[in-house]
Amino acid sequence: LLVLGIESSCDETAASVLRYRGEDDVEILSSIIASQDEAHAPFGGVVPEIAARAHMQKIDGIVEQAMDVSGMSYESLSGVAATSGPGLIGGVISGLLAAKGLALALDKPLLAVNHLEGHALSPRLAEPCPFPYLLLLVSGGHTQLLSVNGLGDYTRLGSTVDDAAGEAFDKSAKVMGLGFPGGPNVEKWAAKGDPKSVKLPRPFKGRDHADFSFAGLKTAVARAWEASEQTDKAKADISASFQRAVSDVLAERTGKAMAMFKDMHGEDAKRFVVAGGVAANKALRERLTQLAISNGMSFFAPPLKFCTDNAAMIALAGAAKLAAGQTDELGVKARPRWPLDNAAAKANPASG
Ligand code: ATP
Ligand code: MG
Ligand code: FE
Repeated sequence: LLVLGIESSCDETAASVLRYRGEDDVEILSSIIASQDEAHAPFGGVVPEIAARAHMQKIDGIVEQAMDVSGMSYESLSGVAATSGPGLIGGVISGLLAAKGLALALDKPLLAVNHLEGHALSPRLAEPCPFPYLLLLVSGGHTQLLSVNGLGDYTRLGSTVDDAAGEAFDKSAKVMGLGFPGGPNVEKWAAKGDPKSVKLPRPFKGRDHADFSFAGLKTAVARAWEASEQTDKAKADISASFQRAVSDVLAERTGKAMAMFKDMHGEDAKRFVVAGGVAANKALRERLTQLAISNGMSFFAPPLKFCTDNAAMIALAGAAKLAAGQTDELGVKARPRWPLDNAAAKANPASG
């Protein structure tokens, strides 16, 4: 199968062509990503109206570029996939409309992809990773632990009760004036700091569930910054201490979920995946690699450039749907909210 994927749910306009010969045989022929970081940087966060306009302006050119680089013709495509939620509605609509237009004009199937399923499958862009696996999804808008039982089949084991981990990185960076987006900047400063220098909380530590809380950590960072001399040394030390605290919390909570996952799947509970933008953090990856080893599980994560938003993961999820015969009607709607797990999806059917 040859699938064109389109991603436009946040502030990356992206398109990719991917060849799919099965879940363990995937080849990325092109992956073009136009980031809007510069447009949003003055505001210290993504401005939905600016994002929607930028997606509309860029999408056609990015799709053409992805087709060009792949060397494939439009006619040779097996289907057209696009993120249809969750995300900023203006952006999602521009990408989904572009995909609908192409699918109609080419008379090819449309694949409406859940952005989070794209992140969930993203390690397969680099290496085979069979179901089932435990997934720690850590991104700008989500922090969840899920049992990935199969395509479109997710059981939630835990999730954040307030902020997402990526949001905590972004807000902490903003408080210290480190620039947007926050994650990579905090990581850079953290490399020069002492992770033991500033005392920060470890929310929910020891609790008998796999949920997260990051709001308190974010507030503690703001307080530590206020109380500091606000020097480069303070930036480095607070960044390092914050990154250590987030890694501690994610690892400790994931440990709880590993036990739940083993109860669910027994002998088959062998694989652990971390995905989403925050999975690009090297200290976190190392920490979680150790955790997986000590729990007798194999560690998987997408290559760094496929942790943050991209269209290759959307093309991959679309191809997997197509291979399973799950195509969508041209009337399918963009969904600002679209939970991945079975229970929440049932309680929150397509309506947006
Ligand atoms: P969602 O996928 O939940 O809809 P999103 O698409 O906006 O949200 P992603 O693109 O998956 O999120 O990830 C972006 C987030 O990842 C941002 O919060 C960013 O700060 C964070 N991030 C990116 N690189 C790093 C890094 N090296 N260390 C920590 N966080 C990072
Ligand atoms: Mg972004
Ligand atoms: Fe994302």
